[in-house]
Amino acid sequence: MDRSTYGWGGVSTGTPAYTFAPTSVRDLKQIFSSGEHKSFLGRGLGRSYGDCALNTDGALIDCRFLNRLLSFDPETGILKCEAGVSILNVNRLLSTTGWMLPVVPGTQWVTIGGAIANDVHGKNHVQEGCFGAHLIALKLARSNGEVFDCSLESNNELFAATIGGLGLTGLILSAKLQLRRIQSLTMKARRIPFDQLSTLFSLADEHFEAWEYHSVWLDPATGCRKGHYIMANHSQRQGNLTWPAKRRIRFGVMAGFPSDLPGRLVMKTGNLWYRRGIRSGAQETTADAVLYPLDRLPDWNALFGKPGFFQHQSVLPTAVAESALDELLSVIETSGQRVLLAVGKWFGPRSSPGLMSFPVPGFSIALDLANHGTKTHKLLDTLDGVVADCGGKLYPAKDARMSPTLFTSGYPKLEQFTQQHDPLFASDFWRRMEQSG
Ligand SMILES: Cc1cc2nc3c(=O)[nH]c(=O)nc-3n(C[C@H](O)[C@H](O)[C@H](O)COP(=O)(O)OP(=O)(O)OC[C@H]3O[C@@H](n4cnc5c(N)ncnc54)[C@H](O)[C@@H]3O)c2cc1C
Repeated sequence: MDRSTYGWGGVSTGTPAYTFAPTSVRDLKQIFSSGEHKSFLGRGLGRSYGDCALNTDGALIDCRFLNRLLSFDPETGILKCEAGVSILNVNRLLSTTGWMLPVVPGTQWVTIGGAIANDVHGKNHVQEGCFGAHLIALKLARSNGEVFDCSLESNNELFAATIGGLGLTGLILSAKLQLRRIQSLTMKARRIPFDQLSTLFSLADEHFEAWEYHSVWLDPATGCRKGHYIMANHSQRQGNLTWPAKRRIRFGVMAGFPSDLPGRLVMKTGNLWYRRGIRSGAQETTADAVLYPLDRLPDWNALFGKPGFFQHQSVLPTAVAESALDELLSVIETSGQRVLLAVGKWFGPRSSPGLMSFPVPGFSIALDLANHGTKTHKLLDTLDGVVADCGGKLYPAKDARMSPTLFTSGYPKLEQFTQQHDPLFASDFWRRMEQSG
């Protein structure tokens, strides 16, 4: 039987020696105490692009069945749930309550444990910071069987290391989160086309105050030098609070397709949709459309077939963001390779309690590139050089190949973090960083 597990981009494969799906702490303690396993790693819904949720030759702990909602207080907006609960299910639970998660990534198919372990960010980072900024407490199981209640007040070092800790401090069992109030799931959105990078940056300066959610689509057909600036706010009027029921469209059958052609065609259509199909100016839309645009095609990654694709997501510090972005795009242009999808966001100064959190103030750009083997690796290495030279960093949740040197330079609290690392927790990403480090 093929036990392989994959990163979302399809370029990283791991073969765990065992996969377990515990439903209780008792199950978990049995796994830890069996003495049979070289290493452990939690896995959520596998939405990380590279190898941070893979554990070759070790035990992979599938957390999807630790999925109980423990409590919700409609007065305070405090939610307690197990770590395998998905954001999709939290949204559904909160339907009609007037509360929602303050920070969400670009897909709902992410578990709460995965959101903590990568300290995910959303399009509203400038105002709300990362997921971890809204985490009140978490319960963590270590491989020696001990369970810790962690918060800013109690076991705070473990708390800080677990937020953005890539699943390496132990298994997150449950979380206590502070939600935010909303009047409606209707949003007001505005799109402004821009035709040069300098305009993109001045648009941001102009609109930060008035709008909460900011994102940028860069048009690959123009070398990513033109695009749309997209802003959105929650409607302040009372309105619909029901999350839409999700249709699941599956393309899993094509996962073994020998080329990335279907993927490239879908990306082309997606970009066309951005370019032609969207009115500029202000319009009313739904939170679902603003927050999770890619969820309309849930398994779109499979369309890239066996070669898979890379996502290069960096953050470029504010002072140099425009020139560094210009350089990244010039490098890609010179290489003759094409970006499939390019999406940007801003990160603000709000810091996370997490030691290993990715965001620092600046512009974050995610560039999707089809995997053409050595020539793509070469291009990615050159892009890394631009990021390193401008003092930027890469996002481990999206990474399948960055060097340990770039990782170390981007994460200055790495040493403090490793003191909290559970010695029996490991991932393919972590071994890659250790091996050549
Ligand atoms: C379409 C798409 C859009 C995305 N948009 C964004 C975005 O806007 N912002 C952003 O920040 N990210 C984004 N991501 C990345 C995604 O949010 C993260 O990779 C997230 O961590 C995935 O969660 P998961 O449940 O799938 O976890 P996995 O990918 O399975 O695991 C991620 C990490 O969490 C650890 N982990 C999982 N569960 C536990 C647990 N219970 N205890 C301990 N460790 C655990 C794993 O070991 C691994 O290190 C996007 C991904 C996709 C596919």
